[in-house]
Amino acid sequence: MTDDELPDIPVICTDCDTRTKVAFDEVEAAVERHNEQLHDGETVAQVDPEVMEVLADRVAEDLGLL
Ligand SMILES: [Zn+2]
Repeated sequence: MTDDELPDIPVICTDCDTRTKVAFDEVEAAVERHNEQLHDGETVAQVDPEVMEVLADRVAEDLGLL
């Protein structure tokens, strides 16, 4: 594991009552696929909002925006 490696991202779906961890580079596709297959394309499943915030900060930091 290197410093560049991003952690698995928790995806929560309130409808299915599930919480799954997905690799960072697959999380967008996974959420999309889940919503398309199980919720007719509605955005029900999403990245855990708390994690999203932390991640946004971290990415901004990496990019030198902070
Ligand atoms: Zn779902």
